[in-house]
Amino acid sequence: MTNYYSCKIDELANYTGKEVTLAGWLNRLRSGGKVLFLMLRDGSGVCQCIVEKEKIDPELFDELKHLGQESSLQLTGIVRAEERSVGGYEIAVSGAKVFCKSKDFPITPKAHGVEFLMKHRHLHLRSQRQWAINRIRHTVISAVRNFFNDNGFTLIDTPIFTTAAGEGEQTLFGVDYFDEKLHLSQTGQLYLETAAMSHGKVYCFGPTFRAEKSKTRRHLTEFWMVEPEVAWITLEELLSLAENFVCSIVSTVLEKNRNELDILGSDIESLEKIKGPFYRLTYCEAVEILKGEKTVEFMAAQLEGFLSREKRLKEKLKELTENQESAKKQWQKDKIATELNEINIELGELARKIENNPKHAKLAKDFVWGKDLGGSDETIISLMHDKPIFVTHYPKQVKAFYMKANKDDAKVVDNFDMLAPAGFGEIIGGSMREENYDALMERINEHGYNPQDYSWYLDLRKFGSAPHGGFGLGIERTIAWITGEKHIRQCIAYPRMMDKVYI
Ligand code: ATP
Ligand code: MG
Repeated sequence: MTNYYSCKIDELANYTGKEVTLAGWLNRLRSGGKVLFLMLRDGSGVCQCIVEKEKIDPELFDELKHLGQESSLQLTGIVRAEERSVGGYEIAVSGAKVFCKSKDFPITPKAHGVEFLMKHRHLHLRSQRQWAINRIRHTVISAVRNFFNDNGFTLIDTPIFTTAAGEGEQTLFGVDYFDEKLHLSQTGQLYLETAAMSHGKVYCFGPTFRAEKSKTRRHLTEFWMVEPEVAWITLEELLSLAENFVCSIVSTVLEKNRNELDILGSDIESLEKIKGPFYRLTYCEAVEILKGEKTVEFMAAQLEGFLSREKRLKEKLKELTENQESAKKQWQKDKIATELNEINIELGELARKIENNPKHAKLAKDFVWGKDLGGSDETIISLMHDKPIFVTHYPKQVKAFYMKANKDDAKVVDNFDMLAPAGFGEIIGGSMREENYDALMERINEHGYNPQDYSWYLDLRKFGSAPHGGFGLGIERTIAWITGEKHIRQCIAYPRMMDKVYI
C-alpha cells in the first residue's frame, strides 16, 4: 500500500513546484463556479487547495463541490508559493480521494456558546483555537520537563491514591480503596520530600485532584501540577529557581509557538517582557498596597475604563443590529451574528466586572492582617504589575501545616506565591518545609491530623533532617496566562469541574 500522504502541510516549503499528496479534513469550502477553494487541515497546518473544473474529472469535481465541513480526504497537486494564502502555499489540485463525507457538522463557523462547545468538546478540539492551545500546552509541558532534566533534577512519580492530606481536608476527593478510605492526591509534595532526601533535587509531574466547590475561572477539580523539591536550598534560591523556570517556559513558547499565539491573539509584547528579576513583595507589603490610597485610585480608574468600554460596545451593538437587518445575503447576516455574539459575551463579562469592582475595592480597603489573600486581592496586585510578583511570608495561620516558620517572626512562614501579571493571579505556591521534628509534630496536632498518618513523613525529620523546600506550578493556569485565555477550562482537552464532568 502506498502512503496516505507524501508530506505534511507544515513541510510544503520544501516542495514548491513539486507534486504532493496531503491527507486531512475539510475546514471550509468556497465555490466560485468553475473553481473550488478547499481549506484543508491536516494537524500540522491549514492549506488552501484550488480545484479547477477543467483540470479534473467532472464527477470528482461535483463530489468535492458538495463535501460538508470536516469531510476527510486526500488531495494531490502541485505546490506553489502564494503570499496571500494562509501558510504561504497553495496546492493546484489534480486528483482527490474522499474518505468520509461529513454532513451537518454541529460546530459551524458561526459562534456557539460555551455550554454547547463543551458538550461537543470531542469535535471542538478540531477548532483552530483549541488546536493552537493544545500545541502550546505541548510546548509548555516539554519545556517543563527539559528545564528540570537539564538542571540536575530526577523525576519521581508520586502516588495518586494517598492517605496523607497535603492541602487542607475540605478539598479531598475520597475513594473507597477496598475496605479503606483513601483520597486522590492533592499534591505529590509529601512523597517528593522523601525522594529529595535520596536524590537532592527531584520533581514530580502529574494529575492532581481537588474537590473545589467554588466555580471560578481558575479552578478545576482535576489539573496538572509540576512540583520540584530541593534539599539544601534557601528561600531566596527557591525564588530564583521559580523565576528561571517560568522565564524558560515563556521563552520556549515564544520561540516555538508564534503562529499559535497569533491565532489566539495573545499579548506577545507583554510576554517578551517576562524576564528576571520578578517583583518581590512580602505579604505585609501586599496588604499595605491593598489598603493604600493608590489602590483606591486604581480601582476607580478601572471602573471608569469598564464603563466607557461598555458604552462603546453598546453603540457598536446597535449599529451592527441595524446592519444585520438590512443585510441582503445570508453569509453577511451570519458574519454579523458572530460579531454580535462576541460583543454580547464581552458585555456580559463587563457587567460582572462593573458589579464586582466596588465589592473588590471594599474587600481590599478593609483587608486585615492575618487573612489569606483572596482571588480578588491577588487580581488587584497582579493588575498593578507587568511582570510576575512573588508574595512571600504569609501568616502561619492560613497556610499548610508543613510550611516552615520564619526564624525572626514566628507568626509568618517562609513561603511564596507567584502571581502572574496583568490580573491573572496565582500560578505557583511554594515554601520551605518545617524540618524540625517537634515543630512539625506540633503543627500536625494543631491541625487535628492523626500523627500516625504522617509517621513516614515525620521520619524524614528523625533520620538526617535537612533544610528543603519546593513549589507547585499549575499547568492549566500557566497556559491560560500565557495565551490570554480567560478561563482555564479551555487549557486542558477534557476539563473537569464541580458540576460538570464532560464527555
Ligand atoms: P488557590 O488559592 O488559587 O486555590 P492554592 O493555594 O490552593 O491555589 P497550591 O496548593 O499552592 O494552590 O497549588 C499550587 C498551584 O497549583 C497553584 O498555584 C495553581 O497554579 C495550581 N492549582 C491549585 N489549585 C488548582 C485548581 N483547583 N485548578 C487548577 N490549578 C490549581
Ligand atoms: Mg486552592
